[in-house]
Amino acid sequence: MEPLFQLQNVHKVYPMGDERIIALDNISLDFFRGKIYCLLGTSGSGKSTLLNLIAGLEKPTSGTILFRGKPLEKLTEAQLAIYRQRYVGFVFQSYNLLPTLTAIENVTLPLIFRKVPKKIRNLKAKEMLDAVGLANRGKHKPSELSGGQQQRVSIARAFVNNPEVIFADEPTGNLDTKTTIEMMDLITGIAREHNQTLLIVTHDLEIADYADQIVKIKDGNIDEIKERL
Ligand code: ADP
Ligand code: MG
Repeated sequence: MEPLFQLQNVHKVYPMGDERIIALDNISLDFFRGKIYCLLGTSGSGKSTLLNLIAGLEKPTSGTILFRGKPLEKLTEAQLAIYRQRYVGFVFQSYNLLPTLTAIENVTLPLIFRKVPKKIRNLKAKEMLDAVGLANRGKHKPSELSGGQQQRVSIARAFVNNPEVIFADEPTGNLDTKTTIEMMDLITGIAREHNQTLLIVTHDLEIADYADQIVKIKDGNIDEIKERL
């Protein structure tokens, strides 16, 4: 089976004045469809940088990232935008919901970008809010929801397009232990049901428990890869 993503000798260097910060040193790694991955490492180890490169938000300094065999770094900005709209869902630590929009409007956003007609948009968003347990919160603004509820909305938004891959960067970083377990059950449950690929970035060992494969990152390198049975 061809990997969904193939990283080959990926380096990412940030110039900082006279200095060069090596965020990723030399990463070669495959990600396969339908698997749940955890990128585990301490703060500053390069996890978010890695995720941003795979999501096409940044380009590697050298090396290549293949998506279904095609190099992402060769795509134009417009093509990258299409890649993200069509294939990718995002969940962030800080939810990143638009404060002036209701829950349901936030969930419809990815469908607006894909020009899905309004009726279908609203239907899909309602279904998705249902699936994350927020059927009766659709008209609420983010400020009228708890942290856990806001993260549920952002999970609904990430999955509403039925994307091939979901990137979650410290998705439970702002949540208590009980809510963290609820969120992880929810994200991994939906992903498993639809055979989606999940890349979760975290420094939390407990979250790594949910993954099929744990990739430990240290100082911009792969420290260890653990396959879980
Ligand atoms: P993590 O997500 O594991 O905490 P990051 O990927 O955010 O780590 O950062 C890895 C390293 O790269 C850190 O040393 C960080 O300071 C540096 N870095 C990240 N983004 C930038 C940037 N835009 N400019 C300069 N340095 C950066
Ligand atoms: Mg980070």
